[in-house]
Amino acid sequence: METIDCAVIGAGVVGLAIARKLSRSGREVVILEAEDAFGTHTSARNSEVIHAGIYYASGSLKAQLCVPGRKALYQYCAEHGVNHQRIGKVIVACDDSEVAGLKKYKAQAEANGVDDLRMLTPAELAEMEPAVRCVAGFLSPSTGIIDSHGLMLSYLGEAEDKGAMLALSSPVLSGKVESDGIVLDVGGAEPMTVKCRTVIISAGLKAPEVARSIAGIPAATIPPSYYAIGHYYTLTTKSPFNRLIYPVARPDWLGVHVTIDLGGRVKFGPDFEWIDRVDYQFDERREASFYKAIRHYYPSLQDGTLQPGYTGIRPRITGPGEPVQDFTFHDTQVHGVNGLVALYGIESPGLTSSLAIADYVAARIN
Ligand SMILES: Cc1cc2nc3c(=O)[nH]c(=O)nc-3n(C[C@H](O)[C@H](O)[C@H](O)COP(=O)(O)OP(=O)(O)OC[C@H]3O[C@@H](n4cnc5c(N)ncnc54)[C@H](O)[C@@H]3O)c2cc1C
Repeated sequence: METIDCAVIGAGVVGLAIARKLSRSGREVVILEAEDAFGTHTSARNSEVIHAGIYYASGSLKAQLCVPGRKALYQYCAEHGVNHQRIGKVIVACDDSEVAGLKKYKAQAEANGVDDLRMLTPAELAEMEPAVRCVAGFLSPSTGIIDSHGLMLSYLGEAEDKGAMLALSSPVLSGKVESDGIVLDVGGAEPMTVKCRTVIISAGLKAPEVARSIAGIPAATIPPSYYAIGHYYTLTTKSPFNRLIYPVARPDWLGVHVTIDLGGRVKFGPDFEWIDRVDYQFDERREASFYKAIRHYYPSLQDGTLQPGYTGIRPRITGPGEPVQDFTFHDTQVHGVNGLVALYGIESPGLTSSLAIADYVAARIN
């Protein structure tokens, strides 16, 4: 049986950031990816926003990793030529009933160390975003947009430069914890069995499933999987917005907000619905609800200008009616298995936090 030092299961943005980090610290890394390309799941189906760190509960790992992760990411993009833009975001209250929510965000942002939010006067709002109907708003200047594929390519390139290897079409099917390592059975065209000193489960939507397939990880420590799909519609006309626009959100999602990609195309979304399996199919019956939600802040949206875009699925480990989970990292202290770190529920802001998550995981490896 082949022996490897460190296996990272999953080549999304988080797995690749971890592989980069570990290989740069001198570890021998193999990245096992089920698909025939890297980054085809959540890392390719998100808003591509560099989040400032405004919304997350004080002290949560989302808050703790987003703020330094965002700063590290801007620096990384600048140093490695990853396409991005610090475009800024305006969070708006469309009527007086939403103003309290807006003020809560500002307080939460400050508690999280996001110290650059600025309340805008009605005159400033009208000048900055004339298409948006709102009564109050604030500017988040450190919110940005990023080419997530370019970022993953850069992480992978750096990892490979340090000797890491990406094995595509290599799904981990099962495994077993042994006294001197973790054995993984890998499928695909050339099935293999490898023994690893360290295993990182960074399999996104499938992370709990992968953990359950490895005998010796106590079942009671493995969280359940829940999936929440979000749809994006694109605007067929020129952008009427100059920045990202976020209406005040509901507790479990950020609402149908406006993001602009690096090509200048406007996307609205994601909405939120629980689904029972990973299926990215676009449900076009959502159109009417999008028109309604968008016209709440962009009343001049014309009929016929929305076009189905794509969907993404949030990897949740808590279900309907339960509080939204934090980023969840299980190390030896949780499951008792030496050399294993399992990542669960790495939804937004996982892209923004990827470098900080990699540091956090690396610090938990023995
Ligand atoms: C709708 C939506 C919008 C979002 N918007 C943003 C945003 O704007 N900004 C932000 O910061 N974050 C955002 N996020 C979060 C961000 O996209 C994720 O946190 C991030 O992409 C997660 O990366 P990952 O590597 O953990 O998972 P993934 O990208 O899903 O990668 C997991 C990989 O594991 C592989 N895998 C699964 N099972 C196996 C197996 N058995 N063997 C081998 N490989 C396996 C999969 O094929 C996949 O490639 C958003 C998320 C969603 C759902």
